[in-house]
Amino acid sequence: MQLRLFLVFMCQMVWAQVEITHLLGIDESHLTQLESYQLTADTTNAFCAMQAAALQDGIDLQLVSAYRSFARQQQIFEDKYIRYTAEGLTPKAAIQRILEYSTIPGTSRHHWGTDIDITDANATKQKRLLVPEKFHNNGPFAPLHQWMQTNAHRFGFYLVYTPDASRTGFSYEPWHYTYLPEAKGFLELYDPNTAYAFFKSVGVAGSAYITRDFWDSYYTQFVLGVNREVLGK
Ligand SMILES: [Zn+2]
Repeated sequence: MQLRLFLVFMCQMVWAQVEITHLLGIDESHLTQLESYQLTADTTNAFCAMQAAALQDGIDLQLVSAYRSFARQQQIFEDKYIRYTAEGLTPKAAIQRILEYSTIPGTSRHHWGTDIDITDANATKQKRLLVPEKFHNNGPFAPLHQWMQTNAHRFGFYLVYTPDASRTGFSYEPWHYTYLPEAKGFLELYDPNTAYAFFKSVGVAGSAYITRDFWDSYYTQFVLGVNREVLGK
């Protein structure tokens, strides 16, 4: 009984410690290491249980992305911004192109440590892994996708960027899952005002074109433009 109370207390301690800085990719103190990746302890445990179950069914579930820092997301964003504007796009058009698959730094769910991109190691002799077609029909990751459709929920994992035509925001990503028992609370904690203030303080390339109005509509369309189950609706 005392051990149980202690564990409840520890869980509450972890919750109390998670703050907005943990959701912006600038504080990693809530994460644990899993091979070369970082995730929250709860997400790690759930992922490992799911991975073991998948392996029994012949699916060699592998992480290709987990936690990502603000600095790394800034690098991804700026590389694309520089490339697209060099190709002749206006700054605004370049940002719109980036937002098909990449987030504005400070807004990625990969900052949280609850979200993962996955493939099947049995089928990784591929040049580009994260292509939606590869997860369907005769694609190399179709068995993985089918297995996840059937089993992911019982481990707490949910697809975030679904093919639902009424969903706004990022394109369909059949590789991206969130550990919902934890991520649900993180989305509630995520404060777009603090995130915007921090983003503007960094001086990311192209950020002059990301006004407060742009940010507010981006927050509604993209950050909240997720699977309805992930929103809790
Ligand atoms: Zn992802």
